Amino acid sequence: MPKYQPKNSFESPRFSGPRTFMRLPYVEQLDEHMDFVITGIPFDSGQSFRTGARFGPGAIRDFSILLRPYNPEQDIHIFDYISGVDFGDIPIIPGYIAETYDKIVAGLTPILNRGIIPIILGGDHSITLGELRAVAKKYGPVALLQFDAHSDTWDSYFGQKYNHGTPFRRALEEGLIDVSRSIQIGMRGGLYGPEDLNDARKMGFEVWTTNQMKKAGVERMLEVIHHRVGSGPVFVTFDIDFLDPIYAPGTGTPEVAGASIDEALALVRGLHGLDFVGFDLVEVLPAFDHGQITSASAANIVYEFITLIALKKRQQLQQQKSW
Ligand code: MN
Ligand code: MN
Repeated sequence: MPKYQPKNSFESPRFSGPRTFMRLPYVEQLDEHMDFVITGIPFDSGQSFRTGARFGPGAIRDFSILLRPYNPEQDIHIFDYISGVDFGDIPIIPGYIAETYDKIVAGLTPILNRGIIPIILGGDHSITLGELRAVAKKYGPVALLQFDAHSDTWDSYFGQKYNHGTPFRRALEEGLIDVSRSIQIGMRGGLYGPEDLNDARKMGFEVWTTNQMKKAGVERMLEVIHHRVGSGPVFVTFDIDFLDPIYAPGTGTPEVAGASIDEALALVRGLHGLDFVGFDLVEVLPAFDHGQITSASAANIVYEFITLIALKKRQQLQQQKSW
């Protein structure tokens, strides 16, 4: 039986106790019983418009106490197969992005070195550059699978190279991602010019707008993703503004006419089979949320990330048995 699992909500009410993700144990000491850890990176000094995503990890945890351990859509009792904890937050430095990147690398490196999969709660999207630096140190350049209304491949904002609009151009320049296996999905909304998306394509990303995705449909989109990413390591980054503001009003730079939560959950569920090395969920901004709509969407997407890790473990166990 896996060592770390959520508190049993038949024994203690789910609204009791400290707010860890999904009522998992809060453990700061890494050990061999962890398949995944949830960790927050409450940094929002990279935001170009609304600030406040520093409170994202707390808001997602707050909603997550409602999540239950059996996932009927994937038919799996998650904690029969894996064990995981809430590792708390990485100690970032508000206002200091370069120093925060160092903190992120220092925080994630021991997790990755143990082969534990980090699931990171943001924070604004600038943090993903720090995450990819840590990931590439362990795995070399990985595929990037990005769900986002924005490509985040601008060169600079206000003359500054590091913020939530630029992380994937920087990641490419730094050699952290294998762009030939990387794909960006969900782009929409007004731009500064056609070069914004064309630049991403010229850099080598496969780019799918929300409209293209909706026309193709979820099943076709999943075929494209699996074909593109292939069997090598992949990092999944999910900007909550991929969703329509109906499902995620609490975010830094909302764009209308986005994906529904149904489409998003179906897409994430369909990722089963990929070789995940890490996940993040960014840009939740609770001050603009209403009735926990955004944190409900975010927590449920993270729940599907955890399920993917459990499915992978179950598959590995079944393969071992059949040998
Ligand atoms: Mn983004
Ligand atoms: Mn975005």
